[in-house]
Amino acid sequence: MKKIAVIGAGTMGNGIAHVFAQNGYQVNLIDISQNALERGLATITKNLDRLLSKLKITEDTKTNTLSNITTFTSMQDGVANVDLVVEAATENEGLKLQIFKDLDNFTDKNTILATNTSSISITKIASVTNKPEKVIGMHFMNPVPIMKLVEIIRGYSTSDETTKIVMDLSTKLKKIPLEVNDYPGFVANRILMPMLNEAIETLYNGVAGVYEIDNVMKLGMGHPMGPLQLADFIGLDVCLSILNVMYNGFKNPKYAPCPLLVNMVQAGKLGIKSGEGFYDYSQSKKAEKIANQFS
Ligand code: NAD
Repeated sequence: MKKIAVIGAGTMGNGIAHVFAQNGYQVNLIDISQNALERGLATITKNLDRLLSKLKITEDTKTNTLSNITTFTSMQDGVANVDLVVEAATENEGLKLQIFKDLDNFTDKNTILATNTSSISITKIASVTNKPEKVIGMHFMNPVPIMKLVEIIRGYSTSDETTKIVMDLSTKLKKIPLEVNDYPGFVANRILMPMLNEAIETLYNGVAGVYEIDNVMKLGMGHPMGPLQLADFIGLDVCLSILNVMYNGFKNPKYAPCPLLVNMVQAGKLGIKSGEGFYDYSQSKKAEKIANQFS
């Protein structure tokens, strides 16, 4: 494994590209939007500067990391001759199925195709390719350069060989991979999302305010962020979409998204990325402060 393509330069894609590049891999970072590529590179540079200021890396590491990354707006060009593709495009099933159909045509038969999806079935994504044994979930956590876990999700047909290669690779990135099977929400979101949804339900029922709910969990349970703050950080649209996948997948009302969450998403209150969710980020540097809590 030497050459990696990362599809999508957003929140997760730029973090994934950063981690591979810092560990010596050649990374082709691909996005349909030139702006997203520029913003992604700016974020990587800012995060490297923060590591440099904390003496966690040297100036040479910063230079080498940035020089390991090449950007592309054409997926076909960006995935030519790579050993692994990590797809981190927008969480939309139709879009991901189309990307994997194209990847099947544009990549060598030995190239491993990984997806960072939070909730879409790996088995379904693999089914549109002619090499389902080479398709796997590689679910990095946000923020990628900081969080240690990579949830490795085996689809129905993922081979032992593909799983081993991706587990070993994750260790080389200094992450801790944990292998799970492909059921709605996998493990991380199956446990996390009902908790975030319950926090929203608690607010919706008027049991307590945002400050109280978040601080009960921070001060009482030792969580680094309150659940409402975390939902804002992840994106309320992303939370809603994951809950809907679990609700539809298990046909169990315990995963039904809280009506307040549905309303907020419909109103365009998506959390940090839209400037408002359970907190107002428009006037303050709160978003940056929250991100810094992890570093
Ligand atoms: P994002 O909206 O920040 O970024 C998505 C990027 O994909 C955008 O820059 C967009 O231009 C690009 N894109 C869309 N279609 C494309 C295409 N056809 N080809 C190339 N690029 C394309 O989204 P994100 O939060 O980074 O999420 C990406 C993936 O990671 C999703 O599957 C999401 O479920 C998963 N994920 C997100 C988080 C999180 O906390 N945000 C955590 C874990 C996993």
